[in-house]
Amino acid sequence: MAVPILTVLGSLNMDLVAYVPHHPLPGETLTADAFATSPGGKGANQAVACAKLSRARPPPPYSSSSSPSPQQGGSSGGGGGGGGETAHVVMVGCVGADAHGAQLRANLAGYGVDVDGVGEAAAGRATGVALIIVDAPTGENRIVLSPGANHALPEGMFRDAGGLAAGLGRRPDLLIMQLEIPFGTVLAALAAAREEGVDVLLNPAPARRLPDEAYVGLAHLVVNETEAAILGEVEESVLDEEEGLERVSARFLEKGVKNVIVTLGGRGVYFMSEDGRKGLVPAEKAKVVDTTGAGDTFVGRYALDAVGKKGAEFDIEAAVRKANKAAAKTVERAGAQDSIPWRDELE
Ligand code: ADP
Repeated sequence: MAVPILTVLGSLNMDLVAYVPHHPLPGETLTADAFATSPGGKGANQAVACAKLSRARPPPPYSSSSSPSPQQGGSSGGGGGGGGETAHVVMVGCVGADAHGAQLRANLAGYGVDVDGVGEAAAGRATGVALIIVDAPTGENRIVLSPGANHALPEGMFRDAGGLAAGLGRRPDLLIMQLEIPFGTVLAALAAAREEGVDVLLNPAPARRLPDEAYVGLAHLVVNETEAAILGEVEESVLDEEEGLERVSARFLEKGVKNVIVTLGGRGVYFMSEDGRKGLVPAEKAKVVDTTGAGDTFVGRYALDAVGKKGAEFDIEAAVRKANKAAAKTVERAGAQDSIPWRDELE
């Protein structure tokens, strides 16, 4: 069987992080103690998770900017030479015609992600950035998100199979989306995927209520507690008990979802499938350093198991257990994309 294609339609951002002795007051100019840039955006993070978790760490010296670009077709090579990758990962998104955009594309390519579907917005639309100010003594963040080019993704390109194929000549085996791009674009892609019979994994972050048609035939809905509460229209405390998790998940299934996953941070994961399989998988024991990227790692590992599987053929519990393990590894390391493990780190 050909290597499956996982296409992520979503956001790419550059995170600009300044570490300060205290948050600046209105009108104050503050000198930062340290500054760092790091690639982010939920879409890009999930593409990196799929790519890293589907291949072994490339031999040193590994550097994201010097690794070879991924192969078309995904049957061999790519991803820096770790070998034996089990998926061809495609990113579809939009950056600005600027240095950040070029860096984000090169970074993804370095991890083995196919970036041919990452377009450039017209002049005047900068690459998406997150301006993050970290109060170093307390670790408290203040964040300004500027979606920029992420909001230039046109709805129309996903209305037909051509959009979904993203230039590869065949449709993806799984389409993965979040909500950091225009909502209309997500809805159009959902409709196109439904018409074309392409399975979708939706991770509705940041959370917002979805129209009923978004749930119809949706293969995988992956939500954290906040997202489950907002989409399920319940208080978050309802999810403290397994009975509440079951009730909310069942409601998503009634609306037409086939597999529901609720990630519960340090509590683990709840899952339920349309044929009645369900359960709570406790989190792996982890020495928590930084939980950034945990949810994205979970999505990536789960997607690699879910791709191409239908009904009882999909062992949802095994997929959840593997994803739970991968995400626990991520919380033990700092950073977003950096902290996501390579496949061989989990073997
Ligand atoms: P998000 O980051 O999207 O809010 P969660 O916080 O629910 O998502 O975390 C996603 C997954 O990461 C969890 O379901 C679990 O598998 C893993 N995880 C998160 N926090 C921890 C932790 N403290 N210990 C072990 N695993 C964790």
